[in-house]
Amino acid sequence: MNLDTGFKSIRLTLLCVLVALVLLAPFSVPLAESKSSHHSKSSITHGESAASPGVQGNSGISDGASPVTGNNNSKVIMINFDDSYKTQVLYAKPILDQYGFKATFFEVCGWVDKNGERQTWQDVAGLLHDGNEIASHTMTHAHLNGVSTSKLYFELGGAKECFVKHGYPVPLFGYPDNLGSGNKTVVNVVSKYYYMARSGSDPLMFLDCKGYQKHPQANCTTFSPDGSLNYVNIYDIRSQSFDHIHSNTELSQPQLFQQFVQRVNSQIPYNKNGVINAIPIITFHNLTYSNSVYNQLPSTIMVPLFAQMMKYLHDNGFKTLTMDQLGYDSTKNVFYVKNTPSQSLSNIKPAPTPSTSRLSF
Ligand SMILES: [Zn+2]
Repeated sequence: MNLDTGFKSIRLTLLCVLVALVLLAPFSVPLAESKSSHHSKSSITHGESAASPGVQGNSGISDGASPVTGNNNSKVIMINFDDSYKTQVLYAKPILDQYGFKATFFEVCGWVDKNGERQTWQDVAGLLHDGNEIASHTMTHAHLNGVSTSKLYFELGGAKECFVKHGYPVPLFGYPDNLGSGNKTVVNVVSKYYYMARSGSDPLMFLDCKGYQKHPQANCTTFSPDGSLNYVNIYDIRSQSFDHIHSNTELSQPQLFQQFVQRVNSQIPYNKNGVINAIPIITFHNLTYSNSVYNQLPSTIMVPLFAQMMKYLHDNGFKTLTMDQLGYDSTKNVFYVKNTPSQSLSNIKPAPTPSTSRLSF
């Protein structure tokens, strides 16, 4: 073959490759995106004026060439487990470990080591050792509304003492059945022993506390100007339990999975380019393979569904955060996620230590 023929064949090969690239490009990119946009069609629960979550962050793919990774580091979730169920260690933890996910476990101090249904102190130690967070969920899971003062101190201060005795400082508290976070007397005692507290009833935690249409507030201060407790504050971080009954309707496993997908994707309109403004905090309780156990409590979930949900998070680029990664900026009165771009860019000062009470009654 002479030189001229050689160049011609190289040119022809290059041309073929170029044509193939141009033809294939439109099909090569949106595969990953089609998955998330499909699942997030009806995912907006707040801020209805926001664009479709599937559209958010997609500007980079208009030329068909950029990889669809824009939102991956902006999708987060906080996974909580309440009530010290043994099944959380037996069934949930191996699945979490499989994906490197970490969670926050709200333990009832008087239930640990109580019986075979609950975790042992060795279980709790193992959870902490493997990077999970341990939080307080009272001494006996008492409903804190309407209990006597001595009972209130026992459930809050006594639990703190109980956890500290076992080596857990527990700066975070969770209200049993979400009761008491709207009661000033309860919140006052909570503030004596804990730095932050979590209740329920909302699928998203807005870090500036402004995203709640039914509960408008200017910032995250504990009290509103009229002296009442704000809906969201450092003693009332909003989460939502994952239950299999909603509005008296029993949901099927596929329906529950779709609901989970919607809940975790509802953050997408608010979080971009690694800056986190809203976090879905989802609380789980018991897990089981048994239909009869499943039917005893709405908050119990089937293990295969939990595995499916965690796989979805992993396959779609979600990161887990533990609750202790939430900081509170007492100058701006907003929450923030520690060690994220939003924190370093906004020059946020460290939050006060737990011993500094921000309440005055
Ligand atoms: Zn509970």
